[in-house]
Amino acid sequence: MTALSGQIAENLATVRSRIDQACQRSGRDSSEVTLVCVTKYAELEWIEALLETGISILGESRPQQLSERAAVLPKHIEWHLVGQLQRNKVRRTLACTSLIHSVDSLRLLDRIETISAGEGVRARVLLQANLSLDHARSGFSADQLREEWSRVMAMKTVEVLGLMTMAAWSDDPQSSRPVFEELRDLAEELGRRRVDQGGRPLTELSMGMSNDFEVAIESGATLVRLGRSLYQGLTPPQTSRR
Ligand SMILES: *Cc1c(COP(=O)(O)O)cnc(C)c1O
Repeated sequence: MTALSGQIAENLATVRSRIDQACQRSGRDSSEVTLVCVTKYAELEWIEALLETGISILGESRPQQLSERAAVLPKHIEWHLVGQLQRNKVRRTLACTSLIHSVDSLRLLDRIETISAGEGVRARVLLQANLSLDHARSGFSADQLREEWSRVMAMKTVEVLGLMTMAAWSDDPQSSRPVFEELRDLAEELGRRRVDQGGRPLTELSMGMSNDFEVAIESGATLVRLGRSLYQGLTPPQTSRR
């Protein structure tokens, strides 16, 4: 095992045990929480080391980098887009992702519906909520989601599986808790409305990053998106090597 693979395996083991402990504290089974390894800062060799450990769910925040990497990395990888999607990149992104976490407007949702219907595929998405009403962040407000929910429910080829959010950055993970709990309650409320119409509940909650994933798990997260904590102790290769 190289030093790189050893470090990645160790970081991953630490993260997994923190996930397990957060699950135990909240009476949840670890199988309810899926780890999405965010690779936006990762070198290709780091990703290869992650894949060696058996990881297969990767997340990218930029559609361009996602499709470039999907083209060169093994086909069994499930790619998730976690960052902003421009409407002109929908077609290419749908072709290489299994879940888009970051649908932040009805215009984008409509575009995904049109493209997926045209291609005869289903598109699995989450709607991004901006609950801290941080103007630097995109996403639906809770009220917008409530108001537009019938339009969302009318989608045919787009499957809205749940909600995603990011808490405002803070070095105190506890400060994310109210936002995560609000997302959970909102998903329950909207899911109930869909069940009343004969649809399915909202089962996925994508919340929690390296700084606050344990609080997210305690608040009901089913997908945690981790980047930095997986790459601790690694330094990018010197430019002379490239
Ligand atoms: C980068 C990113 C992450 C991972 O953040 P870390 O702090 O590196 O764990 C999660 N979600 C989104 C949307 C991101 O852009």
